[in-house]
Amino acid sequence: MKVKIIEKIDTMRRLRRRLVEPVGFVPTMGYLHEGHLSLVRVAREENTSVVVSIFVNPTQFGPQEDLTSYPRNTKRDLELLAKETVDVVFIPEASEMYPGSYSTWVEVDRLTQRLEGASRPSHFKGVTTVVAKLFNIIQPTQAYFGQKDAQQIAVIKRMVADLNMNLKIVTAPTVREPDGLAMSSRNSYLNPQERQAAVVLYQALCLAQQLWSQGEKNAPRICQEMINLIQKQPLASIDYISVADAETLNELDTISSPALVSLAVGIGKTRLIDNIVLQ
Ligand code: AMP
Repeated sequence: MKVKIIEKIDTMRRLRRRLVEPVGFVPTMGYLHEGHLSLVRVAREENTSVVVSIFVNPTQFGPQEDLTSYPRNTKRDLELLAKETVDVVFIPEASEMYPGSYSTWVEVDRLTQRLEGASRPSHFKGVTTVVAKLFNIIQPTQAYFGQKDAQQIAVIKRMVADLNMNLKIVTAPTVREPDGLAMSSRNSYLNPQERQAAVVLYQALCLAQQLWSQGEKNAPRICQEMINLIQKQPLASIDYISVADAETLNELDTISSPALVSLAVGIGKTRLIDNIVLQ
């Protein structure tokens, strides 16, 4: 079956009525890599129909962030999705999702105040708003998100529970490059020297895992060891390092599992995030 490429909300709704249940949905901002495609493959296995969206959502970027430079290659994305036997690609314009009269926002409290939310104050308001809109338009049975954005998953699960949305949220593991760097569309910003330096995020997470496996349960001590490691890399600047309860995202002093170890680190001008769960 040929993949249908849909730009208009009305057309997407009409087509949705003809899709055979269960419908799996993978929201993305495009510039697809193996991380995205792994979500598509899980969705393909678990559903009769698969919808992927490609939408660089302007409302989740802060004024100083990389909305205009965010990498885009729709032609290549569509070729990759055609190979994965996706049924529908929903690829709306910003003006279709946010017409001039647009005034409604979905906001999750508390969980969004820390980590990514502390560094990027309006980010999650944009994420939850666009994801709620996409869920309303596509009405999936299940939606697929990557562990790479662990806080995003916690926030979306909270929104789905609090607003009684009728779908299941499925999480898939982080896909990494051979040296451990988590795949990300933003990796394309890195020059060769920065690309080499970027492995330090994964190395710091591995160090945390190793210390914890050896019996270290004191979170600040683990964070300090991670800081020491990252500070040896001259191109790296730490935004945050956190050891938190995986569900509430409350910072932990003593580690009880499952604990989310997450970090945001600038490599040159590029801000990268990654995480692992200790359990
Ligand atoms: P994005 O296009 O960056 O908004 O990501 C779309 C979806 O792909 C989100 O659910 C991400 O968590 C997920 N994703 C991004 N990178 C990876 C990765 N390396 N492994 C697994 N999932 C990922």
